[in-house]
Amino acid sequence: MPYPVVHVLFFWFCVSAVAVYAIAKAISRRELSLKDSKKLLLLMFVGGLCTLFPDITAVYNLFVNGNLEHCSIGPVPTHSLLFSSTAILFGMLVGYAAYRNLNKALYMAIFAGSAFLTHLLLDDISEGGCAYLYPLYNNHISVFSIMDTGFAEAGLFKYLTVSFVSVFCVFIVILMALFALNRFEFEFSYMTKK
Ligand SMILES: [Zn+2]
Repeated sequence: MPYPVVHVLFFWFCVSAVAVYAIAKAISRRELSLKDSKKLLLLMFVGGLCTLFPDITAVYNLFVNGNLEHCSIGPVPTHSLLFSSTAILFGMLVGYAAYRNLNKALYMAIFAGSAFLTHLLLDDISEGGCAYLYPLYNNHISVFSIMDTGFAEAGLFKYLTVSFVSVFCVFIVILMALFALNRFEFEFSYMTKK
């Protein structure tokens, strides 16, 4: 499993790369106010913390049982879409506490959900899958392994379906972060040349 620092850095610098670019640009132009900095720190805090939520039980087990077992709370796998509700709820509470606005709370929840899901994707790459669909399907599924489905053995239809679904899963996670960042004043637009 990737270690916590990797999860946090991956979310900040890879999934939220566009925000890093925008912040670097604002700093270089000396356009970043103290108020803006506080908002950015809040986003970094929520994103960074929520990307660690799937391994939350490691902290408990380290102190209580002396091991780093980190994959479940009771019968519930923490590396699942079901458990992402904890990050979504946390993001919503922090967003509401900071902005006193339901829409902003919702966008923070989406951002937190994206951060959580990037953890599952990284673990998927390194460990070969997660129990994404628990309790509907309890076995591990690997988004990245199914990308390896060959055209010759699977047939055209299955090959195209698997390719689309696996890439779409990653796309949705990145899009959630981009959408939320856009709602937190990061502007993305297409500039037409006149
Ligand atoms: Zn993990």
